[in-house]
Amino acid sequence: MAEVYDPGNIFAKILRGEIPSHRVYEDDAVIAFMDVMPQGPGHTLVVPKAPSRNLLDANPSTFGPLFTVVQKVALAAKKALDADGVTILQFNEPASGQTVYHLHVHVIPRFDGIPLKPHSGGMEKPEVLAGNAEKIRAALGS
Ligand code: 5GP
Repeated sequence: MAEVYDPGNIFAKILRGEIPSHRVYEDDAVIAFMDVMPQGPGHTLVVPKAPSRNLLDANPSTFGPLFTVVQKVALAAKKALDADGVTILQFNEPASGQTVYHLHVHVIPRFDGIPLKPHSGGMEKPEVLAGNAEKIRAALGS
C-alpha cells in the first residue's frame, strides 16, 4: 500500500463534519473527540486539522499545537473520570497497529489495577460516550 494521505479517511470526514463525533475540544489547529471503541472509560482522540497519515509524514509545526491539546485533554480527562493516571498512545502504519490514517493521539484515563481493553475492540454505547464527553468538556472549562 502506498503511504499517501487519503482525504476519505474517517477522521477527515469527522473534521469536515460529514460524520458525527462526541467532540470535547476544538481550536484553529486541533480537535478532540471520544473514541467509539474505547480502551477504557474516557478514551479520547486528539487530532490535528492539518492532513498527514501519521507522525512520520507530519509537518513538525503540527506537534506543538497538537501536544499542547494532548496535555489539556489528559488533565481534563484524568479529572473528569477521577483517574489515577493517563496513557498516551500513537501508532504509525499498519505494522504498529494504526487503523485510521490521519495523525491522532490517544488519551486514555487509567485506573490502578485495571488493564487496557483491546485496541479497536467493541463499540461503546452512544449515551456512555456522550456522558464522558460532557464530563471532559466540563473539566476543560473549569
Ligand atoms: P489507530 O489504530 O489508527 O491508532 O486508532 C484509530 C482509533 O479510531 C481506534 O481506537 C478506533 O476505535 C477509533 N475509531 C475508528 N472509527 C472511528 C469512528 O468512526 N469514530 C471515532 N470517534 N473513533 C473511531
